[in-house]
Amino acid sequence: MKIARRGMTREAIFDRLAEFRNHDIKWQEGRTYGYIFDPGKEVLEVGKAAYTAFLSENGLDFTVFKSLLRLERELAAFGATHLRGDRRVVGNFTSGGTESILLAVKAARDCYRERRPEITVPEMVLPATAHAAFHKAAHYLGVRAVTVSVDPETFRADVERVRSAITGNTIMIVGSAPSYAHGVVDPIAEMAALAQEHELWMHTDACMGGFLLPYFRRLGEPVPDFDFTVPGVTSISLDLHKYAYTPKGASLVLYRNKAYRRHQIYACSRWIGYTIVNNAVQSSRSGGPMAAAWAVLNYVGDDGYLEMARKKLAAVRTIADGIERIDGLRLLTRPDMCLISFTSDEVNVFHIIDEMNRRGWYIQPSLSFDNSPAHIHLSVSASNVGWEHDLLDNLAECVRVARTLPEGELTALIKGGLQGVDLSTISDTQIMDMMAAAGVADGSLPGRMADINGVLDALPAPVREKVLTAFVNDMFSQP
Ligand SMILES: *Cc1c(COP(=O)(O)O)cnc(C)c1O
Repeated sequence: MKIARRGMTREAIFDRLAEFRNHDIKWQEGRTYGYIFDPGKEVLEVGKAAYTAFLSENGLDFTVFKSLLRLERELAAFGATHLRGDRRVVGNFTSGGTESILLAVKAARDCYRERRPEITVPEMVLPATAHAAFHKAAHYLGVRAVTVSVDPETFRADVERVRSAITGNTIMIVGSAPSYAHGVVDPIAEMAALAQEHELWMHTDACMGGFLLPYFRRLGEPVPDFDFTVPGVTSISLDLHKYAYTPKGASLVLYRNKAYRRHQIYACSRWIGYTIVNNAVQSSRSGGPMAAAWAVLNYVGDDGYLEMARKKLAAVRTIADGIERIDGLRLLTRPDMCLISFTSDEVNVFHIIDEMNRRGWYIQPSLSFDNSPAHIHLSVSASNVGWEHDLLDNLAECVRVARTLPEGELTALIKGGLQGVDLSTISDTQIMDMMAAAGVADGSLPGRMADINGVLDALPAPVREKVLTAFVNDMFSQP
């Protein structure tokens, strides 16, 4: 494929781009309960304007672009104050939660290379609810992820299990505030005490809650301490592009002091070229996300965010109460924030999701793992407020419809087809044949995803990963 020989007109370009977007989810309507954190038109416009104003500035060199140094220092200082740290807390702006987490794990790894040079394969203890980004960091950075089950009732990290997973090679413990899947805050204070007792690094993943939970606390919610007020918490990740509603590409990673953060920084002087000293994973980076984050935070302001939090809290209560009243549905647990997880013991949840999708809603499937059943996830954000009753009415209807749908013939077929297959040696071709049988071919997905989710749900996690990899490897090909 080649680019247009003669440049296209502006008009033609934007027509084409709009066309590309035709089959996307219509998130602007406010019926999308994930991926999108939409503060509404007015705030979005401010973010866009600041983003484009700083589009060309390059964060690679803050000695040349002093404005970006200024913005990053102010954003990190805001994070430090918001998470009740003292003057010594430092941090950096990153492209998202994953990058913040990668950097925190790198800093911990390098810190312990110095402190405990005898450890050759460092270990990180992760409750099963710790975000996938920690597994990714472990994979990228040569750290071993040791996963422990969470409490089967509360879905919070089980401190005793974390304790028993600590070995002579452990360098780090991770807790979530809150966890993505069930939206509950781990017992951070107890985990941090355990970390102190064993002289380990303790990271609080507050990607979801770091910004919002302090507002919930101010509204009288019983939010347990998870921030720098907790002795033993070494680092915290806090996303701005979630509940602070700043344009995507915005997160903070914060450290108790510079002695810890030093290990995050990468300098390279062993090549012929410009001097490299990077805080983040990215080297060249647009000033857009940073300027936009600064602009949106200061435009909405503290009062604005408190008011938004109040509305979300009310919406979450309405939705959670409503789900409990729908015959056939049950909450996995009462959420601590705005993330709701629910399932059904009678109906295939993947059918419910497909039915909701047909009616214009996006609600998220979550596969079963360890002691958490397959379930539906909702991230409730500002633009969802006001849709509670419609959501609940539609859910009730979709549960009724899902009851009448056949229990995944194809899932059964494929599961049957798997009987003779040694899952550990399954080839990409066998996987693609299976996926084709489920309606996935040539980079397109079937309208209903229940079969595919059903198949994935039936497979052990390492095979799921193989299937997903083969699928994506196939999908991203020349159009
Ligand atoms: C979203 C999220 C992340 C990852 O953040 P990205 O911005 O998607 O990279 C990490 N942890 C938690 C708890 C999250 O909700």
